[in-house]
Amino acid sequence: MTTALFWFRKDLRLKDNLAWTKACESHRIHPVFILEPELISNSGPYRRQQFFSNVSALAAEIKSIGGELSIIQGPARDVLARYIRENNIDCIYFNADTTPFSRQRDEQLAKDISVPINTFWSGLVHPPETVLTQKGEISKVFTPFYKKWVTLPAPPSVEDSQPIFVDAQQNTWNETQDLIPSTSNQGYKAAINRLEKFLKVVDDYHESRNFPSKEGTSFLSSDLHFGTIGPREILHRLSSNREGHRQFIRQLAWRDWYSHLLFANQDIPTKAANPSYDNISWRDNPEEFENWTKGQTGYPIIDAGMRQLSATGWMHNRVRMITASFLVKHLLVDWRKGERYFRKMLIDGDVAQNCGNWQWVAGTGFDAAPYFRVFNPMLQSKKFDPTGIYIQRWVPELESLSNAEIHAPWEHDQATLQKYNLMLGETYPFPIVNHADARERAIATYKEARG
Ligand SMILES: Cc1cc2nc3c(=O)[nH]c(=O)nc-3n(C[C@H](O)[C@H](O)[C@H](O)COP(=O)(O)OP(=O)(O)OC[C@H]3O[C@@H](n4cnc5c(N)ncnc54)[C@H](O)[C@@H]3O)c2cc1C
Repeated sequence: MTTALFWFRKDLRLKDNLAWTKACESHRIHPVFILEPELISNSGPYRRQQFFSNVSALAAEIKSIGGELSIIQGPARDVLARYIRENNIDCIYFNADTTPFSRQRDEQLAKDISVPINTFWSGLVHPPETVLTQKGEISKVFTPFYKKWVTLPAPPSVEDSQPIFVDAQQNTWNETQDLIPSTSNQGYKAAINRLEKFLKVVDDYHESRNFPSKEGTSFLSSDLHFGTIGPREILHRLSSNREGHRQFIRQLAWRDWYSHLLFANQDIPTKAANPSYDNISWRDNPEEFENWTKGQTGYPIIDAGMRQLSATGWMHNRVRMITASFLVKHLLVDWRKGERYFRKMLIDGDVAQNCGNWQWVAGTGFDAAPYFRVFNPMLQSKKFDPTGIYIQRWVPELESLSNAEIHAPWEHDQATLQKYNLMLGETYPFPIVNHADARERAIATYKEARG
């Protein structure tokens, strides 16, 4: 029997993992994870912690079935060829990815490595280039993409496999133990627990998903990013004739769409998808950017979201939209700066999803929000946090304000504010910009860029 090196990347699981199943069908397996410097340097503290926990959980799972995950230090282009030689590897298996970093690295490896490389797709419901218009292109508009995506046959479940591992003693590189701190509370089991919990409330998803104070969403984005669970396994647990389920399935389609778009347009992280917006005269005021990151803009819903992000590495989707829009439109900071900050801080920070969403919010992307759409933070706040619970949790300076008062503290007279020990400019900032003026300025700036 020949020996396959199985390279775990963004698929840190053994179930519903096509490349893993294929490798196990006909080879002895040598499971490897490569700790590449880019993976560490591009992650903030929350994603790094999650990443270590997931790799450590995978190592424990492999150990429980008689194998040993080798964790070696990258970059892959430097270590893989030597590792293959020294461990008598006959072929490589892995799941492909859509990011520019991954694709460039894999193309180079294919040139440098002498053994056959077998790649599959396991991180998306449908692989890139399989959901196409009649002209054979990916739709630049979401709805037609979705209509096609949803009618394609659901990909079959991937069989569980019974791996035969190489004897761990044969591994000449034993770096494994010290590289990853051992915390195994994440991984596949934790992802399944999150899925099971969510399936109890998925019927209400279409109604509760927009309210940041409710636990109305799945919290599976980081699992999907690291591949501790596959989207197809999730899809197989849903039913397309129930509204909550249908709305949730639609979100999985957005995820596929942004990945397919990135696969087809590798400059999405750096260039406006709509070139007329490459010439926006951004203000890029560093002080205002810093106030935004710290949750000190004077707009309670923005500050709540940004403080939740700093404290936990997560932010609710609706609040991501409001805070991102505020940075780009109200403050006229280049969307790429916000995108980089979010990507570093978010536990689910993901090139395809983050860039796709930032470009959508900024109005520069495919099928994006129109340039004149400028979210009104007070209206968004009243609509999606009507009782102010979310704001109270993250902006405790405002916790004694009533439901009606909390969304725009500056609108209340001095006596009301004093009653709550609130001194604007001292205990909580005045708004960093006036909404109406900022809105007008944003629309004028975008119009100018359009020419
Ligand atoms: C400015 C901005 C930046 C974002 N950055 C990221 C990011 O870096 N990584 C990331 O995974 N998501 C990102 N999103 C999308 C979305 O906010 C998160 O996927 C979602 O909040 C994660 O929570 P959940 O798993 O509970 O979502 P659920 O509502 O339970 O959705 C289920 C899954 O569908 C996918 N999904 C949901 N909404 C979107 C969406 N708008 N676009 C693409 N996929 C979606 C996610 O994989 C999510 O886990 C961003 C959204 C915005 C507006």
